[in-house]
Amino acid sequence: MSNQLSDRINSVTPSATLEMAAKARELRASGKDIIGLSLGEPDFNTPDYIKEAAIQAVNDGYNSYTPVDGYAELKQAIITKFKRDNDLVYEPSQIVVSTGAKQALYNIAQVCLNKGDEVILPCPYWVSYSDIVKLADGIPVEVSSSIENDFKMTPQQLEDAITPRTKMLWYSSPCNPSGSIYSKAELRALADVLQKHPQIIVVSDEIYEHINYGVTAHASMAEFNDMYDRTVTVNGVAKAFAMTGWRIGYIGAPSYIARACNKLQGQVTSGANCIAQRAVITALIESPDRVQYMVDEFKERRKLILELLNNIDGFKCNEPEGAFYVFPDISAFFGKTLNGTKINNASDFAMYILESANVATVTGDAFGNGNSIRISYAASEKEIREAVSRIKAVV
Ligand code: PMP
Ligand code: GLU
Repeated sequence: MSNQLSDRINSVTPSATLEMAAKARELRASGKDIIGLSLGEPDFNTPDYIKEAAIQAVNDGYNSYTPVDGYAELKQAIITKFKRDNDLVYEPSQIVVSTGAKQALYNIAQVCLNKGDEVILPCPYWVSYSDIVKLADGIPVEVSSSIENDFKMTPQQLEDAITPRTKMLWYSSPCNPSGSIYSKAELRALADVLQKHPQIIVVSDEIYEHINYGVTAHASMAEFNDMYDRTVTVNGVAKAFAMTGWRIGYIGAPSYIARACNKLQGQVTSGANCIAQRAVITALIESPDRVQYMVDEFKERRKLILELLNNIDGFKCNEPEGAFYVFPDISAFFGKTLNGTKINNASDFAMYILESANVATVTGDAFGNGNSIRISYAASEKEIREAVSRIKAVV
């Protein structure tokens, strides 16, 4: 009966990250010893001080619908966070809390895009951008990059990608999957190009802001006065606070966009979960220093995984400056046959190491770059060592 489904859903690709994680779970349930390095999910528990705020909320009787755009206290906490961490000043009318940054991104696409509007996506981009854009009848325009330019888009590439139909530019910094970070000067150079094209709205996805290894300082596009009125800053608590399942994300946006997201959300999901919202007030008001221990740990693991992967012939690694992924170029294996399996592309390679080494990663194709695979190092040192040694053994 799949022909009864809409063209819309038939045109969507399943999320490759979630699909690979599900496949790993399935194989594990069937008795295989799978090491999962596919999902971008901290392997830490949510810190106790945040959990306690949630327990307190339950005991205090928080159980009703919340305002669609989030509790007023949470919006104040977000305003405080934006000022403290990003020097961005927002009014409550510019903030919308959603069920994860993913819903925030979906809202933005739905309220900003008309059929045929083009959205520039510097590659590699986060897996869901392209399908979220397509779900809003937009056209993703991929701008390629490679390990040689640290997976970043140059101002000239941006200029070349712009057409009269360009409506938006979406990027994440720190980037999922490359870990690259645009410096303030690099963002300024992109903003200079955008100055000539005032119709373009920027979506700056900063969900990995705090997972920064100290090489390049975090910068926001909205910091520039001339970009503030046309930038939507997206953030959330999933990564830095180890709260992936709590499902809270948020935006700071021009009021007209925030109002539209609020209207859409009011017809689709209503306000995000009440207990999670109360817990996030605490997460955001407290100093980010309280979660630095996780970043320190990720930094050690990054060092370890880079050392180990750089020891495998055919793996060419970038040095990620943030987030918890490496995105090695493995194109040296294309055209080769490994233990009887022909490797034609990154998907073949990811599937090969899943099946022969029992290690789950994600093909770079899902992120708009067919020469790499994404490996999450949000895993224990033991798992990282074991996973890389298994990969090495089969390649
Ligand atoms: N943006 C990026 C770059 C991500 O990696 C993720 C992954 N979770 C999201 C947005 C969505 O975040 P959330 O879990 O808050 O929906
Ligand atoms: N953002 C994470 C990732 O890229 C979680 C999975 C998802 O939401 O797609 O792996």
